[in-house]
Amino acid sequence: MIKVYKFGGTSVGSVEKIQAIADRIMSEPNNQHVVVVSAMGHTTDQLVELCSKISTTPEPREYDALISTGENVSAALLSMAIIAKGGKAISLNGSQAGIYTSNGHKRAKIMDVRPDRIQLELNENKVVVVTGFQGVSEFNDVTTIGRGGSDTSAVVLAASLGLKECDIYTDVDGVYTTDPRCVSQAKKLSVVSYDEMLELASMGAQVLHPRAVECAKENGITLHVRSSFSSDEGTRIKELNSMELNRTVTGIALKRDEAKISVVGVADQPGIAGKLFGELGNHNVNIDMIIQSNEQENETNTITFTVSEDDYEDAKKITERVAKELGAGHVVGDTSIAKVSIVGVGMISKPGVAATMFKTLGECGVNIQLITTSEIKVSCAVESGQADVAVQALHDAFELHNAK
Ligand code: ASP
Ligand code: MG
Repeated sequence: MIKVYKFGGTSVGSVEKIQAIADRIMSEPNNQHVVVVSAMGHTTDQLVELCSKISTTPEPREYDALISTGENVSAALLSMAIIAKGGKAISLNGSQAGIYTSNGHKRAKIMDVRPDRIQLELNENKVVVVTGFQGVSEFNDVTTIGRGGSDTSAVVLAASLGLKECDIYTDVDGVYTTDPRCVSQAKKLSVVSYDEMLELASMGAQVLHPRAVECAKENGITLHVRSSFSSDEGTRIKELNSMELNRTVTGIALKRDEAKISVVGVADQPGIAGKLFGELGNHNVNIDMIIQSNEQENETNTITFTVSEDDYEDAKKITERVAKELGAGHVVGDTSIAKVSIVGVGMISKPGVAATMFKTLGECGVNIQLITTSEIKVSCAVESGQADVAVQALHDAFELHNAK
């Protein structure tokens, strides 16, 4: 049986760890192995740092040529480790592995995967070690597919080989109901749906690259997130519908670095929101939550939205400029905002979930500043100092200490 799996940076962080992976692979001689690796430890960060000492505006092609190299090191070392232990192995870079991407750099899209060479080497009974994170453009240049992209490399290879499962070995042992550093009773979940994982991942549970989850969903591949340091079962990410699950809330996500901007006294007329958010979009500012409230007496609106703290200064300047053009009142901002979200496909079929959330926050004195909802998520912006209290209270209220 062919198996595809990925080892993250921490898992290949030292020679000893690479050797442990080699042992682990060689303990399953009856399977054919395709192993995708990340760069060792914080190598990619160090390469980015090195680059910034030479140029703040590097040529994207050269940037990719540089930051893709970390994966070459770990792939070659793991292949060598297997050979040194008497096994057969070969390392392949993105191009050799047949990972074809768009021509853009830094965040190239994977367009096609042709695993002919991989198949050839597997037929020779070799363990095939593939560099994650990189591909090749139509001009034969090295490309990278976005930070954290090795997860996606593994999933596209699994898909191209017709597999229905892909293991992601990482430094955590699975996906938890919430961050265990925040709530000590957080529980490891045995299954999470693709959509839940996307909501949890995009909100700070940095376990999996969102693109990898999307790609697994498109191809019906079950992802198994597990620890590289133990053989325990981790968390499986797959398609689940709300009927199959007897849980309402699967997890609680916390995003600490939000900031809030309000424009007070904007005219209650068509086109205003389009103008404001159009300008912000043109400057690549990602908007998260939005709320508009109406002042009945003077027929004006207050538009409030959140952005990540990194974008706050830019967003505030742009908003001040647009507010002036629109003849709006004034702009106020606040950077001490956190977003707490409850996520679960189970809430689709159960009424009253949002009400329980609001009531719980009210009872512990947490003021809700903004609310957004989707079919499987309710998010509240709260004062950052109250974020931990909020997460703990919600974890208790939805009895997530009993989650499985
Ligand atoms: N090494 C790359 C990064 O640090 C890719 C990955 O680890 O997934 O972003
Ligand atoms: Mg990662």
